[in-house]
Amino acid sequence: MSKVIIFCAPSGSGKSTIIGSLMPREELRLAFSISATTRSPRGSERDGVEYFFLTPEEFRRRIAADEFVEYEEVYQDRFYGTLKSQVEKQLADGQNVVFDVDVHGGMRLKEYFGDRALSLFIQPPSIEALRQRLEGRATDTPEVIQQRLDRAAYELSFAPRFDRVVVNDDLETAKAEAYHIIHGFIIDEQTNA
Ligand code: ADP
Ligand code: 5GP
Repeated sequence: MSKVIIFCAPSGSGKSTIIGSLMPREELRLAFSISATTRSPRGSERDGVEYFFLTPEEFRRRIAADEFVEYEEVYQDRFYGTLKSQVEKQLADGQNVVFDVDVHGGMRLKEYFGDRALSLFIQPPSIEALRQRLEGRATDTPEVIQQRLDRAAYELSFAPRFDRVVVNDDLETAKAEAYHIIHGFIIDEQTNA
């Protein structure tokens, strides 16, 4: 049976970088869950690839139509959510679906999928390191960076509720550790079944 891998981390922890290193590993058969959001695309992001970019009106219409497994107003007026149609299709195709969601979404998805899901928390070595990474990424305004940092301390308090915590201090070590954990969950469990 295909599995669900849930990644959570304060924004800037290196979650996308780590996920990006795992996706091409064919033996893991990973497919990225494409969330919907009301924020604008940044950098080279394209609609239907990194996210489905919706207007707030369209997002609200879909909430009312019960089209989300879960959704959150992660930052004020900025909604993110997982569309039922999207995840059901990927699981039915036999892919192991990777989620990149905020901590509330992560808790809800783990509850929803149970033992079929592995929840991973990517932890930065410190808040200061997080600030440096967000500034270094240079994709957000100082105001948005501050919003993300304000939320980070709160999100870090959720780490003990995850199946596994990976500290992203040295990037290569963190990538290898995440690979090892996910490989164990997907491949070894299949072999033992
Ligand atoms: P997230 O997806 O968690 O928001 P990103 O993957 O975009 O974070 O990483 C934020 C920034 O930090 C990027 O510029 C990335 O290259 C950098 N980064 C990621 N991991 C590390 C690390 N271990 N050490 C230093 N910089 C890192
Ligand atoms: P970003 O704007 O950096 O892409 O994402 C901001 C935050 O929204 C991240 O913490 C990300 O994990 C979260 N997020 C992205 N998609 C979803 C989703 O579908 N549901 C929830 N609950 N959070 C999401």
